[in-house]
Amino acid sequence: MSPCPDSPWLEVSVDFYGPTPTAAAFGHFSAKFDDKNYRPVCKVCASVKKRAQTRFYCLACNVALCVENCFRIYHTEADIAKARQQLQ
Ligand SMILES: [Zn+2]
Ligand SMILES: [Zn+2]
Repeated sequence: MSPCPDSPWLEVSVDFYGPTPTAAAFGHFSAKFDDKNYRPVCKVCASVKKRAQTRFYCLACNVALCVENCFRIYHTEADIAKARQQLQ
């Protein structure tokens, strides 16, 4: 048996599960535009000439992105156009 630590643990290590840490771990969060009528074109979709409008954007990058797939693609894929094309 290993001895009990004589003070409470001060450090807790956290492991990431899955292929990549989530973008949120780097301080990238999706936020919604306040103005209901403001729907810019998603940057990832625009890279494959799709005009998908979204009300969400990344707070850190200040880039409009579809909240589901494009947000992840934009932050984790090296080639966003290729990754977006594989979606459909
Ligand atoms: Zn971001
Ligand atoms: Zn998109």
